[in-house]
Amino acid sequence: MTDRIPGFSTLAIHAGAQPDPSTGARVTPIYQTTAFVFDDVDHAASLFGLQAFGNIYTRITNPTTAALEERVAALEGGTAALATASGHAAQLLAFHAMMMPGDNIVAANKLYGGSINQLNHSFKSFGWEVRWAEATDPDSFTALIDDRTRAIFVESLANPGGVLVDLDAIAAIARSKGIPFVVDNTLATPYLCRPIEHGADIVLHSLTKFMGGHGNSMGGVIVDGGTFDWSASGNYPMLSKPRPEYNGMVLHETFGNFAFAIACRVLGLRDLGPAISPMNSFLIMTGIETLPLRMQRHCDNALKVAEHLKSHDKVDWVSYAGLESDPYYGLHRKYMPKGAGSVFTFGVKGGYDAGVALVSNVQLFSHLANIGDTRSLIIHPASTTHRQLTDEQKTAAGAGPDVVRLSIGLEDVEDLIADLDQALATIEA
Ligand SMILES: *Cc1c(COP(=O)(O)O)cnc(C)c1O
Repeated sequence: MTDRIPGFSTLAIHAGAQPDPSTGARVTPIYQTTAFVFDDVDHAASLFGLQAFGNIYTRITNPTTAALEERVAALEGGTAALATASGHAAQLLAFHAMMMPGDNIVAANKLYGGSINQLNHSFKSFGWEVRWAEATDPDSFTALIDDRTRAIFVESLANPGGVLVDLDAIAAIARSKGIPFVVDNTLATPYLCRPIEHGADIVLHSLTKFMGGHGNSMGGVIVDGGTFDWSASGNYPMLSKPRPEYNGMVLHETFGNFAFAIACRVLGLRDLGPAISPMNSFLIMTGIETLPLRMQRHCDNALKVAEHLKSHDKVDWVSYAGLESDPYYGLHRKYMPKGAGSVFTFGVKGGYDAGVALVSNVQLFSHLANIGDTRSLIIHPASTTHRQLTDEQKTAAGAGPDVVRLSIGLEDVEDLIADLDQALATIEA
C-alpha cells in the first residue's frame, strides 16, 4: 500500500469493505441474521457495557450495515456514521440525541415536504419546537436563535425547487453561537458537495434517493463530522452527562470525536428502533459504487432538459441552479460546481389543468412521489403531495398550481426531451 489518500471514486467502491474474513467473498455479504453468538460470558459483558466493539443484535449493529456506514463516513469526510431505516429515521435519531423537551431547532423554510411535516407536527409531541428561518437569508437564522436552540438545520440543495443555501455563512453563525450545524445532503450527495468542509457538524441523508440511486430500497444515515464540542455548554446532556444505563459512562468523554454517532446508536437506535435491514444496506452499498458516474450523468441530463424547457413556448419559467440566469447560479458555482443536481421545478402555462394534462400524458417519465432514481420521475405537487393545502399555502410552499417537479434519470436525454415535448403538445392552448 502507498500513502496515497484514495480518491472519491475509489472510496465509493472500497471504503468499509474487505474480503469476507470467513469465506473470502469479495462483495460484502448480506448478513441476514438477527443476532450474533458471544465468545463467552466476559465477551458478552464487554459488548453490553460498550467496552468492546462487536455485534449483539441487528437492531444495534450488523456487519453489512457497518460496511455501508464506513463507506458513507469516508465519502462525507466524517469520523463515523449510523445507518437507519429511512431518511426520516436519521432525522429523528439525530435530533433525539441533541434535544430535550422545551428545546428548539432553527430550520430553513425550504426543506423536503416530509421534513416540514416531521418538524412541525410529530416533533411537537416530544416538546421540540421548530422555528422557520428564511433559507436564503443567513441573518434570519441569527434572529431566531435563543438559549434553548440546540440545532440549526438546512438542506444543502433544497427539495423541490433546487434552492441552495450559503453553507459557509450559516456555519459561521452556528459556530459563534455554539450550536451544531446539521445539513441534509440528500439532493447533492457527497459527490457534488461535502458539507463538513463548509462547517457542517452533522450530515444527514435519505439513502433512499441518489445514494442507493435505483429506486429499490429505503435507508438513511447520520454522519458525525467529529467537529462539535458536546461538553462545552452543558446543553447536550445525552453526550455530556453520565448515562445510567451504561454504568455512569459519559459518552463524549469516552468516545471523543465520534461520540455523536455512538449516542445515536446506543441510545436512539437501541431504544427507538428504526434499524435498516441488511438487504437494504447491501443494495444501497451496491448503488454507491457507481455514485460518481451516476451523479454526473444525472446533472448533465438535468441541465440539458432545463435548457430545453426554458426555451419551450408552453413553459413559463424554470427553476434550476445550473442555468446561468438562475438566482442560485452563483451559489451552485461555489458549493457544487460539478452540477446542480437532477431535481428541479418548472411552471407550465395554463396552470392546474395544464399540470394535470402533462403528468397524465408522459410515457417515459413515471408519475410518482420519489426522486433520485435511474428512471426519470415527474410529479404535479398541487394535485398530489400538496393537494390538502389552500392555494395561498401551495404557492408559499413552492407548489403553486402551475408547478411541475422533475427528477431527471439516466436515460438518453433526447428521449426525455422528446417525451416532455409530446406531453406538452397535448396541453390545450
Ligand atoms: C426523501 C427525503 C427525506 C426523507 O427520506 P426517507 O428515506 O423518505 O425517509 C429527507 N430529506 C430529503 C431532502 C429527502 O428528499
